[in-house]
Amino acid sequence: MARKKLIAGNWKMNCLSAEGVALAKAVAEKVKANKYDCDFLICPPFTLLGLVKKCLRGTKIALGAQDVHFAEFGAHTGDISPLMLKDLGCSYTIIGHSERRVDHKESNALINKKAVAAHQAGLNTVICIGETGAERDAGKTIKVCQDEINGSVPADATAKNTVIAYEPIWAIGTGKTPTATDVQEVHAAIRAALAKKLGKATAQKMRILYGGSVKPNNASELLKLPDVDGALIGGASLKADDFVAIAANALK
Ligand code: PEP
Repeated sequence: MARKKLIAGNWKMNCLSAEGVALAKAVAEKVKANKYDCDFLICPPFTLLGLVKKCLRGTKIALGAQDVHFAEFGAHTGDISPLMLKDLGCSYTIIGHSERRVDHKESNALINKKAVAAHQAGLNTVICIGETGAERDAGKTIKVCQDEINGSVPADATAKNTVIAYEPIWAIGTGKTPTATDVQEVHAAIRAALAKKLGKATAQKMRILYGGSVKPNNASELLKLPDVDGALIGGASLKADDFVAIAANALK
């Protein structure tokens, strides 16, 4: 089953206007100059969505947010709704990143609710899951991922509107990665959990990204694994050369 790779950048809480515009333009130019056979997604902070959208015009790079609220409008100070993201030109939103699960105490139930609202508004979701270092050491990685798939992924998820990102929390921003064998084992288990929940056909088509210290020098090994369908990239997405080199290396 051929699944087109997705190379997604999560800028997190980085960049002011000038820097964000320069980065988006540099990525856009590099992607335009090469005919990469993969999909690209950039997720800047909310403040830069409008500016970055303009920089991506004429490219196939999709625009995404890093979070979304589940309500359409209303009394939710500081939050952004799925309709607002659509209105800004987003086609994706990340949901349930471990930094939100920890910093904002987001539960699987809340993430599921956000995903349903995003899908209803016509947004695609990148739903993040992954174990802590302590859970890994206790041999609980697969159980944690299965529980997060069962709790966070809504019943309306399809291979079109949903992407899963497996991000071991201990690998995020640390320069550490699991071995390729471990990554493949976990991705295969995630696909099996998706098959149980959504059916085999959907699970076979759904993209499962790996995230956690992906760099140009490890992209090739990680992204050629049979159940790895792309990458969610934090730190390296802040350098246009590195972000695009990950795609180039992954497609070698
Ligand atoms: C992330 O936070 O989604 C991430 C994968 O970060 P990094 O690539 O910096 O580890």
